[in-house]
Amino acid sequence: MPATQPFALIADLQRLNQQLVELPCPACGGHDPHLIWRRDRYFLTVNLSSCRACGLVYLARGLQGEAQDRFYAHFYPRLMKQPPDAHSVWNYRMIAGYRHSEISAVIGPIDSVLDIGAGLGFFLDACRGHGCGQYLGLEPGGPQREHAVHTLGLGGHVLDRGLDEGTVLPFRPRLITLFHVLEHLEDPGKALQRAAALIDPEGWLVIEVPDIRAPWRGLGLHQVHVSHRSYFCEATLTALLQRNGFGVHRTVREPHGIYEGNLRMYARPGFQARQASPLSPPSPSALAELKAHVLRHIRPWSLRNGYPRSAIRLCKLSMKGH
Ligand SMILES: [Zn+2]
Repeated sequence: MPATQPFALIADLQRLNQQLVELPCPACGGHDPHLIWRRDRYFLTVNLSSCRACGLVYLARGLQGEAQDRFYAHFYPRLMKQPPDAHSVWNYRMIAGYRHSEISAVIGPIDSVLDIGAGLGFFLDACRGHGCGQYLGLEPGGPQREHAVHTLGLGGHVLDRGLDEGTVLPFRPRLITLFHVLEHLEDPGKALQRAAALIDPEGWLVIEVPDIRAPWRGLGLHQVHVSHRSYFCEATLTALLQRNGFGVHRTVREPHGIYEGNLRMYARPGFQARQASPLSPPSPSALAELKAHVLRHIRPWSLRNGYPRSAIRLCKLSMKGH
């Protein structure tokens, strides 16, 4: 998709908006959304909603099939600079060291790890640097994988793929990590089932996601993004883990640092799905309370990160020929 005309990016986004389709709830498959907010940070009509059946906040309209493939191949690199600039890269390295220290303080030394959505590779690099013998990353994004494989020298330890039925590992990892990955997936429950099939029975699954129930006024509208399908909180992520073979052992909330309102959950395999509490539809007052919380944080007209800033950023990107 060549984009050499001024404002080509904006015209392409308008076309993309027409290709968005109605989506089911990623957690329970339901089609009963309670609308919270209509448009994302790119002005796409994504219908951010909460599910009346299970309470998950999700996008009731979004990408599917060919439009989704085209988005990740052509738009995502234009909208999200990958690899990021040197300053941000340094920040990613610091975050990886911090995550390594936090996680090993809970689960002990990390001797084998699978990092799903390994990104630039810094977490695997930190594990290797601390003596981890078995480490593997999955990363379908080209520029990120290139950084991990060549710049960090992780080579064949980072594979060009996501997690799917065909994923076969040369070892059973004692740690599986998903840092800001689960919220992007079309079927996060299936991904957890696959992780349960691969992990050491005595192992740990560590997940980080944005917490929709945290304070995130600094992020504002930036929180709502067409590629973020699910907007978890402790309750909805715990329920999803329990329905897919994991029991939660520890929850950590971090207001700042990695992400404004970062939720880190430590889970272990072996949880029987029948023990999970049945889906409990949220009450009308709970739906209203959650909607009010989200609306208080979106701040659409903020000059820092609301629609005016989004419009300027898109115009600048478009004029640069993105
Ligand atoms: Zn649902």
